[in-house]
Amino acid sequence: MNNPTRYEDLGLVNTKEMFKKAMEGEYAIPAYNFNNMEQLQAIITGCVQSDSPVILQVSGSARKYADPVLLPHLVEGAVAMARHLDSTIPIALHLDHGNSFELAKECIDSGFSSIMIDGSHHPFEDNIRLTKEVVEYAHERGVTVEGELGVLAGVEDEVSSEESHYTRPEEVEEFVGKTGADSLAISIGTSHGAHKFKLKPGEQPPSLRFDILEKIERLLPGYPIVLHGASSVSPEHVAMINQYGGNLESAVGIPAEQLRRAAKSAVCKINIDSDGRLAMTAMIRKMFAEKPEEFDPRKYLGSAREELISLIKDKNMNVLGSAGKA
Ligand SMILES: [Zn+2]
Repeated sequence: MNNPTRYEDLGLVNTKEMFKKAMEGEYAIPAYNFNNMEQLQAIITGCVQSDSPVILQVSGSARKYADPVLLPHLVEGAVAMARHLDSTIPIALHLDHGNSFELAKECIDSGFSSIMIDGSHHPFEDNIRLTKEVVEYAHERGVTVEGELGVLAGVEDEVSSEESHYTRPEEVEEFVGKTGADSLAISIGTSHGAHKFKLKPGEQPPSLRFDILEKIERLLPGYPIVLHGASSVSPEHVAMINQYGGNLESAVGIPAEQLRRAAKSAVCKINIDSDGRLAMTAMIRKMFAEKPEEFDPRKYLGSAREELISLIKDKNMNVLGSAGKA
């Protein structure tokens, strides 16, 4: 790429100010993943209508799906859409689970304002080295960086792990001190995907490890913490998917009360991907089942988009507490 795009030129901000306000105000910034135009429209509309700051989040494979050249233009358009709606909500564009310096650099040079570099699968020293390298390149350009310590179970695009390893609080100070990362994703019992726990009938999901979170908060006062794999997996959407020909038995997520508790703590960013996928899939399945003669993508994607807007407004208002905070 010969002419790097600066995120400021796309109308974006980094996450620094957002996290500072979220920490002081005891809420969390939503990071919604997207791959296509309808999801992006829904995120902007839902966050404008609830007056919430927002992090638009794409994984490496989502970026490929949308097309790396098209993506920054889509996002620039999304910012223009928000401003046209007379909204000044701060908007960041974040790479989810960046796995190499090269990918991080490419994203920074194409207009991303925030980068996650996930070296959590590497040995501790290698994770530090990789994260530090990305931080140096990013900070020179005003881009914020999220690191990760601990491993979440589950599958998320290219990232998958059989087992989770909780974050070891004794590692966090050294990691943050040596890398200069602006925020840290931790593992306290959340996991990627729609099947977060294997539960027996009637059994409740286990609590997140708030004791680990509290230890980390004591070691790094005022430092922004990030939760991945934090979808709640709405039973209504799962039931709808199953009713209309899907097969998502035993899908279960993180109870909203636990996310509300986390949002009030040092957790400043909560990632939501699976919940949006489920909402869209439920509506599309319903439309296909009820109107088999329908073949206009605007009809079924339109109803999916509406459902996603309601979900986003509900999350911002009732779970993250970010509504009205822009
Ligand atoms: Zn993740």
